[in-house]
Order: sequence, then structure tokens, then C-alpha cells
Amino acid sequence: MALNLVMLGPPGAGKGTQAERFAREHGIPKVSTGDILREAVHSGSELGQKVKAVMERGELVGDDLIIGIVRERLSRPDAIAGFVLDGFPRTATQAKALDEILEDRGSVICIEMQVPDEELVRRVRARRVCDDCGANADAFEHEIHALPDLCQNTERCRTIGPKWVVRSDDSESVVRERLKIYWRDTQPMIEYYSSRPTFRSIDGMQTPEQVRESLVKAVASALGMPAAQLRTLVAKKLGVQAS
Ligand code: ADP
Repeated sequence: MALNLVMLGPPGAGKGTQAERFAREHGIPKVSTGDILREAVHSGSELGQKVKAVMERGELVGDDLIIGIVRERLSRPDAIAGFVLDGFPRTATQAKALDEILEDRGSVICIEMQVPDEELVRRVRARRVCDDCGANADAFEHEIHALPDLCQNTERCRTIGPKWVVRSDDSESVVRERLKIYWRDTQPMIEYYSSRPTFRSIDGMQTPEQVRESLVKAVASALGMPAAQLRTLVAKKLGVQAS
């Protein structure tokens, strides 16, 4: 049984953080279209040069381009047993393409994270990302001069420490543009999923730990099993003892 999970919700809802943790704890890859595109911009590749300006304006890159990227990523062997998608689909065309990509690969579990707009703007203004490994931190929570020593994802981060920067599309005006596009293009697409038995909404205003628990419960219930059984299944797949 594949664990195909799609995280839906506005920018700043916490999808990336939760997707990363869920993927790690369940032994499946996290596929974030935002991360893939940012890496391309960072490396200066042809793709990066194509999408840089669009991303900086907070607009969406073309459907065909992003669908091609996701199709290729989900065809890799590590995604066959499941994946957590973050940032895709964002339009009705992308949602239909995903159904077609996953045709005989089991159903998709869709989790919508709900957070009010004003809180989203506050979170995104406070967000800092490590320029080297992409880890996130909240500058309000941690005080701007005492950002955590959290990210350890790359050799550079482990030895020199994180390099916290503001994401270039996290300025207040660009965030408001991203929210506008979210409500115009992405929220209507959620209706495409909301009538399915595998659709769940969770409250993104809880603490990150509570959101994590709600997410696990929502996924288990969408699969029609108690959360403990999901843990056992995953543990079997990873060959470890369930906690
Ligand atoms: P957010 O914090 O808004 O959820 P992401 O990190 O997911 O941002 O994406 C950053 C930017 O990358 C988007 O504003 C958009 O320009 C581009 N992008 C990411 N995913 C998609 C997608 N599925 N379709 C079109 N553009 C995308």
C-alpha cells in the first residue's frame, strides 16, 4: 500500500515543516516544488534562470513546466512506495495531471492545513531560511539575534553553523501577492479534492507538535486505520520496532 500524501494550504501554513518531518518519520521522500525551484535558482541552471523572476514576483511558474518536474520526480524508485508532496498541485490543471501521473499507484491522501491570513503574513515576515541547507526558523519566536543553531543538514552547516537569510519572496508585498494567487487559483482547486473520502482538514494554528499529531491522525483516518496501526505499518516497512 503506497502512502501518497499531498499537503495543501496557503504559504506560511507550515506545510514544509510538517511535510519534512512526516516524510522522515515514515521513510518516504518529501517532494517540495518550491525547494526544487529554489535549488535551480541557486545553482543558476537553465531552469533556474527561467523561473527566478516569476518566483520573485510571487507568481506561479507555468503548469507544463512544473508538471514535467513532478512527473519525473515521482517516477523515481524512491517515490514508488509513497511520498509527501508540498507545493503541488496549485492549480486545477496540476491536480488533474497528478491524478493522471498516479493512475495505478493507489489513492492520494489530501491534507489541507488551515491558518488565517493575518497569521500567515506574520509568520512569513518572521521566517528565516538557512541559505545553505534550506532549514526554516522563526525570527520572532527565537529573537532575531538568537536564531537557533538548528540546521545541520549540510557539511557547511555542521561546521560553520547556519546562515539565516530572508527568502527573496518573503517580503510583505510579495507575500500578499502569493496569498492573493492562493485564494484565486489554489483554494478553488481544493474543492476538486474535498469531496473525496481521503480528504482531511487540520488546524494549523496549534503548536507544531500538535499539528504533527493531527496530521498523523488525519492520514491514518483517511487510510481507515487507527494511528497506532499506521506506525506499525511504517515500522515494518523500515524494519524497526514501532514506538
Ligand atoms: P510557499 O511558501 O508560497 O508555499 P513555495 O516554497 O511552495 O512557497 O513556492 C515558492 C514559489 O515557487 C511560488 O511562489 C511559485 O513561484 C513557485 N512554485 C512552487 N510550486 C509551484 C507550483 N506547483 N506551480 C507553480 N509555481 C510553483
